[in-house]
Amino acid sequence: MSQFPLADRLASLPPYLFAEIDRIKAQVAARGVDIISLGIGDPDLPTPEFIIEAMAQAIRKPANHRYPSYEGMPAYREAVADWYKARFGASLDPKTEVVSLIGSKEGIAHFPLAFVNPGDLVLVCTPNYPVYNVATGFAGGEVRYLPLTDENDFLPDLDAVDEATWKRAKMIFLNYPNNPTAATANKEFFARLIAIAKAHDVIVVHDTAYTEIYYDEAKKPISILEVEGAKDVAIEFHSLSKTFNMTGWRVGMAVGNASLVAGLGKIKENVDSGLFQAVQEAGIAAMRHGDAATAELRTIYKQRRDTVIDALHKIGINCRVPDATFYIWSPVPAGYGTSAEFVSRLLQETGVVVTPGNGFGKPGEGYFRISLTVGTERLEEAVSRISKL
Ligand SMILES: *Cc1c(COP(=O)(O)O)cnc(C)c1O
Repeated sequence: MSQFPLADRLASLPPYLFAEIDRIKAQVAARGVDIISLGIGDPDLPTPEFIIEAMAQAIRKPANHRYPSYEGMPAYREAVADWYKARFGASLDPKTEVVSLIGSKEGIAHFPLAFVNPGDLVLVCTPNYPVYNVATGFAGGEVRYLPLTDENDFLPDLDAVDEATWKRAKMIFLNYPNNPTAATANKEFFARLIAIAKAHDVIVVHDTAYTEIYYDEAKKPISILEVEGAKDVAIEFHSLSKTFNMTGWRVGMAVGNASLVAGLGKIKENVDSGLFQAVQEAGIAAMRHGDAATAELRTIYKQRRDTVIDALHKIGINCRVPDATFYIWSPVPAGYGTSAEFVSRLLQETGVVVTPGNGFGKPGEGYFRISLTVGTERLEEAVSRISKL
């Protein structure tokens, strides 16, 4: 059988950084060690029952068995606009400023194809969700990374970007609440970014998958659309994945500037045929009736967060207490080497899997990420093993 070489766009992808971890994990598991995985950012709890019930009813309607429209049913887009209004106070025209997505990853991955020409410059705040730089590369764009560091509260240093770079840049990708650093951004930061982006015609792409996973009502994460004038330059990607434990359902949305939403829609029109209408109906139920379920979810994550943070602080690991997301971003304790060395040793000696920070980009070196997507008892067991190391 012939072995076909991959296209350059795939062949030039950086090597999969977690391959080594996967290899060690298989070895440790083969020794019969009970592995606790705090590596993956995928909610462990089931989708709320009322959403499943809405899906069960929707799937029986023959009208839902046909091709959906690529941009989403009017009722779905109206539910998105109403949810944005209620949660963020942001007004959206459901006809022109909202598009449905088959999960927000789909939209993020397709977006550069609509606006980036080969050779165009795209700014990516890093450590980051890898889709931003990979999708830019697929479109032929050139990536320049803006480092997120502890001294800057994991926000990009906008003053460190020179005038020529802003002038050349086509778009900037950012993500708050942030995966992996768990940082949040405030209105002043977004307002400064929007002003710069307007001055230089830069498209602002904001990924907001974690706005509902927060720990303090007084520090609720915001949407970039809460900032005056954001719609002139910004598109925001959101998702029901983390808010309602729906990662497997593939349901999300892009909202904001009408020309950006339309451009993404044009790609989608040529690539996919939209989001299964039964899933859209389930999504409508989630957005219209899901507040109590999400509040309950926050209570569960808060207990998990406090369990892990207390234990880590007790053994002298001085990580920040996250205000949002279900991640803890922690410096590697002194004397344990690089992120990869620490993560590998932790796995070999305790069976606990965490993610090495450098896997999300260079400035992630020296950190590791814990995901709070396992039950409190298992988390307690994991931190007790970490304490013994
Ligand atoms: C989970 C996640 C998403 C959401 O992905 P879906 O495709 O909607 O499931 C988007 N961005 C980041 C940073 C994430 O961690």
